Amino acid sequence: MVVLYFLLLWIELHDVFPRASNVADTIISSQSLSDGQTLVSQGGSFELGFFSPGNSRKRYLGIWYKNIPIRTFVWVANRENPINDFSGVLMINSTGSLVLLIHTNGSGTVIWSSSLSKEADHHQINPIVAQLLDSGNLVLKDEKGSEPESYLWQSFDYPTDTLLPGMKVGWDLRSGLNRRLTSWKSADDPSPGDLSYGIELHNFPEPSMWKGHTKIYRAGPWNGIRYSGAFDLRPNPLYQFDFNLSQEAAFYTYQLKNKSVITRTTLSPTTNSYDRSTWVEVDRTWEVYVSVPRDHCDSYGLCGAHGICVISESPVCECLKGFMPKSPESWNSMDWSNGCVRDKPLNCPEDGFAKFEGVKVPDTTYTWVNTSKNLKGCQAKCLANCSCMAYTNTDIRSGGSGCAMWFGDLIDIRQLPASGQDLYIRMPNSELSMWANNWSKMKSAVVTVAAIATVSGMLIISLILSSFTTFKKKTKANNVGVCRNKDHNIEVQKEDQELPLFKLTTIANATNNFSPNNKLGEGGFGAVYKGALLDGQEIAVKRLSMNSRQGLTEFKNEVILIAKLQHRNLVRLLGCCIQGEEMMLIYEYMPNKSLDYFIFDQTRSKLLDWSRCFHIICGIARGLLYLHQDSRLRIIHRDLKASNVLLDDEMTPKISDFGLAKNFESDQNEARTRRIVGTYGYMAPEYAIDGLYSIKSDVFSFGVLLLEIVSGEKNRGFDHPSHSLNLIGHAWKLWNEGKPFELMNALYMDSCSVSVVLRCIHIGLLCVQQHPEDRPNMSYVVLMLDNESPMPQPKQPGFFIGRNPLEEPNSSMRKPCSNNELTLTSLEAR
Ligand code: AMP
Repeated sequence: MVVLYFLLLWIELHDVFPRASNVADTIISSQSLSDGQTLVSQGGSFELGFFSPGNSRKRYLGIWYKNIPIRTFVWVANRENPINDFSGVLMINSTGSLVLLIHTNGSGTVIWSSSLSKEADHHQINPIVAQLLDSGNLVLKDEKGSEPESYLWQSFDYPTDTLLPGMKVGWDLRSGLNRRLTSWKSADDPSPGDLSYGIELHNFPEPSMWKGHTKIYRAGPWNGIRYSGAFDLRPNPLYQFDFNLSQEAAFYTYQLKNKSVITRTTLSPTTNSYDRSTWVEVDRTWEVYVSVPRDHCDSYGLCGAHGICVISESPVCECLKGFMPKSPESWNSMDWSNGCVRDKPLNCPEDGFAKFEGVKVPDTTYTWVNTSKNLKGCQAKCLANCSCMAYTNTDIRSGGSGCAMWFGDLIDIRQLPASGQDLYIRMPNSELSMWANNWSKMKSAVVTVAAIATVSGMLIISLILSSFTTFKKKTKANNVGVCRNKDHNIEVQKEDQELPLFKLTTIANATNNFSPNNKLGEGGFGAVYKGALLDGQEIAVKRLSMNSRQGLTEFKNEVILIAKLQHRNLVRLLGCCIQGEEMMLIYEYMPNKSLDYFIFDQTRSKLLDWSRCFHIICGIARGLLYLHQDSRLRIIHRDLKASNVLLDDEMTPKISDFGLAKNFESDQNEARTRRIVGTYGYMAPEYAIDGLYSIKSDVFSFGVLLLEIVSGEKNRGFDHPSHSLNLIGHAWKLWNEGKPFELMNALYMDSCSVSVVLRCIHIGLLCVQQHPEDRPNMSYVVLMLDNESPMPQPKQPGFFIGRNPLEEPNSSMRKPCSNNELTLTSLEAR
């Protein structure tokens, strides 16, 4: 090793580095740290210098333990940019950044530099110095500054694969800094491997470990004592630990109790684990103290949705009480990935909650938190929201406090009898009362019932019944009886009441004998006419075209589905008319036509301002949530698009056209079809390519629609001078370039709230994710639209390039004949 000024046991870097102002960023200074020289921290614990790992000949700048004979690296600067010779030099440049230079043709090239987390003050009197602290932290600071707050940059903020005592894993929410660990590729290659560990910033943050794009382990959210699933994270003689959650930060950190102990946590690419190890001097070895994932039950989502992992059982997966395997065959063959579905469907608001004791709480991606609510308030809040599936205390100390609620599927629960917490899961009252009967016989109680559900449920039911009676009186249809026609095998009941049947003469009179002047448009099963009943009520009449077999299928579908639904954001069916060959549906008339009429037209979109647009976005989201979750059916619309959203006189959006919609059983999550129907530009990849549809394929269409509303551009047919991406791709590009706001339709610039627009774009990108499981469900979308809490980061979306596979000339798939905006249908039976 070259003998230089660095031979002292510790060296303050400012003795070595010249004043920042004297150093040019391309000139190698004699005061810099060259390959072959090292710096040693003041207490002698760590050393900074150049090294070649394992069998590699490449050179890296890094930090390692000074006194440990097995060379153990804790940080690497240029992990992605190795040096091929010994020309590396570390110095401070004229702007006060730490830079790593190499020689190229007599000049220096920067291959790594510290980003300044704080702006250096160019007028400052004291020079900037870089110092290796005895904690292993390389800091850049004012020569006189010693407090962490004064550091201009620190290596602890940019961890590689190791968490040392005093380091943080997690977020600085003011600066957006996310401190995440990423494994080395191999022992010879410190470049970032595919194993990573960090804090997921949900409403209820929790750490997780990823292998590439797959989550492989989740520790669970912090419950005041430990991570919900980290049963072995207990007070111990070695270190104390803490999770800091505030408006400003969300991070985990630990400190040594006994400074003579050498301990660290690292990500191991060979075992795919996150290990805490301690140096044992007598054995001269690193001893692994704790390693996660610990066992089979720690494998993320092993038992699927609504499954619970019990490590003492064989096999380890069970369905939660009140649930049964979704696919018994695969479940019995130990493939639990399909998870479990309810024995009995929910009957909101007539539900209650079952208490599951001693568990690791489910994945917190779709959660809502209120730390000031107690358990009782939490129960009431969850009960009042039909999308809320479970709740618990956020803090289990001293009797428990705070409220966390789950939306959507409950994933990755495990039984932890000694250290788990109580989770309250929504159950239909019928299920709960059945358990209650069994309890009294068996005298074993595990469940509590939310009694207020019955009272509020009855209240709500009587309200619905009385408003329905009023509605019936108001429609004043001039005919009565079930909307039934045996020839066409249509039999409909609206919320178990009769759907008014209109006479053909009534409709013919109302529409001026189906005059072309009354024609509003042409849809999936025929023409739509405007009309007025004798009492003045305006109607829209969908008339099945005489020779459309396809139309008949869609007609039946629409009658059967929409007749059972009522929501402020769904177009309302007033009745039907079936007489001879004529088949018609009669709707309330929407005077403001459809959404596409406004948003894609430069002149008409001026009639909208941003708050109207946002109101429309929220309305569509609520309508879709009702279809997916809150109505008595579970409906996938399959053709959500701007032209299928109608606007009433107050510009309230109403989802229409249920001709292609599908009704799922309450326990069904997805279906496959060979008959791919829908509209180019709005179809989710898995549906367009494999015919797989689910609530998440509707979420994709909603995401496209949201981006279209924000931008005033069509996804399909989007044209940009500098690239050939579609609107999704354009939004994703802007997002990655840090300028998503540029997506915004310039017309709304004056009326918009920047944060709400950015929120909408963020949600839009989450909805158009490539994989259905990465898309939020509509209850979470509604929550995100209402709420200013942090959201997951979007990954690369699906179908973001200009054309989708269905449209490629060589596509092996059937290519239905359609123009851009028309719904694709085929003549095959549904
Ligand atoms: P659809 O068959 O639902 O696609 O309808 C075709 C077109 O008819 C729509 O794009 C609207 O312009 C118009 N339309 C359908 N239903 C109504 C309604 N209830 N009120 C006003 N216009 C409607």
